[in-house]
Order: sequence, then C-alpha cells, then structure tokens
Amino acid sequence: MKKTGTEKPIAPKIIPRPAHNVSRDDISKSALKVLYRLHNSGYQAFLVGGCVRDALLGLHPKDFDVATNATPDQIRALFENCRLIGRRFRLAHVRFGREIIETATFRAAAIHEADDVAHDTEGRILRDNVYGTIEEDVWRRDFTCNALYYNIADFSIWDYTDGVADVEGRRLVLIGDADLRLREDPVRMLRAVRFAAKLGFTIDPTVVQSMHKHAGLISNVPAARLFDEFLKMFETGFAERTFDLLCEHKLFAELFPATDEEMNRDPAFMKFVRAALQSTDARVAANKPVAPMFLLGVFFWAPTVRLAAIRGREEQLSESQAISLASYELMQQQQRRISIPKRFTIPMREMLALQPRFETRHGKRGRSFLEHKRFRAAYDFMLLQSEVGLVDKEVADFWTTVQTQSADARAKSFEIGGPGSGAGKKRKRRRRRNKGGPAAGSS
Ligand code: ATP
Ligand code: MG
Repeated sequence: MKKTGTEKPIAPKIIPRPAHNVSRDDISKSALKVLYRLHNSGYQAFLVGGCVRDALLGLHPKDFDVATNATPDQIRALFENCRLIGRRFRLAHVRFGREIIETATFRAAAIHEADDVAHDTEGRILRDNVYGTIEEDVWRRDFTCNALYYNIADFSIWDYTDGVADVEGRRLVLIGDADLRLREDPVRMLRAVRFAAKLGFTIDPTVVQSMHKHAGLISNVPAARLFDEFLKMFETGFAERTFDLLCEHKLFAELFPATDEEMNRDPAFMKFVRAALQSTDARVAANKPVAPMFLLGVFFWAPTVRLAAIRGREEQLSESQAISLASYELMQQQQRRISIPKRFTIPMREMLALQPRFETRHGKRGRSFLEHKRFRAAYDFMLLQSEVGLVDKEVADFWTTVQTQSADARAKSFEIGGPGSGAGKKRKRRRRRNKGGPAAGSS
C-alpha cells in the first residue's frame, strides 16, 4: 500500500503484548509515570518514535517520547514538574531529576496542496502546528520504523504504516512520497543516514533515489538546525559508518565543503579524518567523553593549513597566527552551513594554532607548553596525526615521554631538546608527506 500522507486515515494493525517484545522493563520509570498518569486521567498515552523502534530491536532506548491527545495545558495541569517549550509547536517537558520526558500532543500532518501556504517554493514545511488525532499524527512522522506507538492502556503496539515489518526487515522506508517528504524537510536525508549507520538498516531504494536528487537541498536547511544533527551523527558512536554513508550519498560535501574538497585532494588527510572518526567511536564505546571540537578541528585541519600558508605569506604572520586567522575565515564560511557555537570554535582554533609549538622541544618555551590549558587537546590532536604519518614519530614520542617524567628528567629533556628541536642549529622545516598541499604544522 502506498502511503502518501494525504489519504484518509486507516485503522492501525494492533500488535498485542504477547506478540511483541517491548517490555515495561525497557521503559524508564519516569516515562512510565507520565504514561500512567495521562492514562489514569482519561487521556490516550503512547510511547512513540525511536524508543519503540529501539526496544523492538532489543536495544536499550535512552530517551522516551510520549504522544497523547491531552493538550499542552492539560498536560501541565497533571504534572508539577512540567514546562511548556516551543513557540511554533508547544511541547511539554516533564522533568524527573536529570531525565526529561518529552510529551507532545498529537498533531496533524502538513497538507500538500497546490496553493498550500504551509510550504515554501521548495516544498519545505513552514508551519505544522495543528493539533490532531493519532490517525493524523502518524503521517507526519518520517520513517515507518519511527511511527510505531506503544499503548500504555494494554501494552499493545499500534502500527499504521507496516513499521513493524520494516523494523524486522531492517529497512528505512519513508512514509508517503519520498520526493515530497525529503523536499519538505531535507534533514530527513541526514536522519536516514544516521539511522542506517546506527541500526544497520538498509535505506529503501526509492528513498536513495530521492536522496540523490535532493542532496543539494541540505544547503537550504537553517544552519542552526544542523549543529544538533551533526552531534547526533558524529558523537554518538557511529561516526565512521555515518561518514561513509554521507560520502556515498554526496551529503558530506553539502555539510563540510572545505573538508570534502581537501579530502579529495589529499589521501593522507582522508586517512587522518578516518582515524579521528574511529577514535571518536572508540571513545563513545568505552563511555569516555567526546569533545566535538576535536573532530571539528580534524575536519578543518587541512583546509586551515592550506589557507594559513597563503595568509602567512601575505601578511607576514607567524605560523600560529596564520593558522588562527585561516581557521577563523574557514569558520565564518562554515557557519553558513552549520552554525557551530563559539564554545566549540574558540577552543578548536586554539588547539589548531598550538600545533606548531610541538616543534619547539627545547628550553623554557618548550617546557611551558606543558602547562598550557589546551595542551592536552593539542597533544591528542598531534598524536593522532603522528599515527597516520602526518607528524614524525620521534616528535610524538618526545611529548609523550616528557609528560610522564620526573621534574629533573623533564628539565634534562628540554635541555637536550628532542629530535630536530631547534637546539643549537636552525632545524630544517618538516614537510607534509603529500605533494601539492601546504606543509602541515609549518608556515
Ligand atoms: P533517536 O532518538 O535515536 O535519535 P528518534 O527516532 O527518537 O531517534 P527523534 O529526533 O528523537 O528521533 O524524534 C522522535 C520522533 O519524532 C521520530 O521517531 C519521528 O517519528 C519524529 N521525527 C523527528 N524528526 C522528524 C522529522 N524531521 N520529520 C518527521 N518526523 C520526525
Ligand atoms: Mg528520540
């Protein structure tokens, strides 16, 4: 059956509790409280979206979205710990300690008509703020696997779109006409890739076809929306697979044009990017914190180095100043695509501008670098470069060793200076291994 999003609502397939594996043990206590209170107050209350999908897959969902026919004001009346957010469409956030249960009133899908004022000329949704019923709510969701509703009244799952079959078949199928749905919200292309990477699902061929037609529409998405999406794509444990899929579907170039250009030019840089993606995924897998500025720094390293070489010559800047200026210019350009908050771009630019300092392995200046507040990040960045052959191993080893040395031994190390440290004679500048590109870490 073709689901266009405009046809009359149909009855859901109802999968009773014994016929599915979503158990209340998979659901957070807080989400259950919200569901039960709504239900006991006479409202419909369902879990919906990623949590139902993930629970069906036997994964352990972390956040829970609730959908109900209660209006935001009715929800607020039931929960003291509730805040209404959003101007265009009001959502209730019910808070339990650090956990927030997003509770949304069913809303109707955007209407697709010739003189429709809710879409712009590309078909993007401008307005979808009409409350509706569950039969309407389902059609505005993106993928069939994300449109499953778990009913707290009897623990059944309501399935209007054959979502359960698609979860079982591990397929990402857009609800309705793929062209239309991607045009009205191009972020769905990134979501397709993200879910494919995370869940190992196959993107439905009709969706792939439309993605290839509409990849360019990503540039119309407000930059502010894409930073969140960037974090979900790259900082949640599946960065490398997401990256591969983004490249395969020509979406990476839409998000990071400067990075893409440099990767195509320079296989060594591509290797560096991949190493960073792998190390980010490994950190997430080990429950270690990840700093988005690190991966961003990697993405912008080669473009920065290239531009810094030009600016350094033009404006007689030190290597570090040239990197700082070049990374600033590149960030200005990048903000038009993805708006990256200053709290990430500032430390990122510092980390990049510190790279030349690893060349000084001698004297007080060398020693004081260890005390710099960004030393650790800069060191990790340099170490990763050395792992892919962009920085000499001896240099990396020197900085690894001095960090663990006693004060005396360390003083001695900086007295002697590391390999090519500039102690005594002026050292020859290290060049990046690739041809054509500007020297990494040199002016
Ligand atoms: P995860 O939480 O793992 O990222 P999710 O599917 O829960 O996945 P959310 O962004 O939390 O994703 O969105 C919750 C639900 O809202 C989705 O499952 C989907 O039904 C709907 N949704 C979210 N974004 C869109 C969109 N851009 N277009 C249509 N529906 C969407
Ligand atoms: Mg979610």
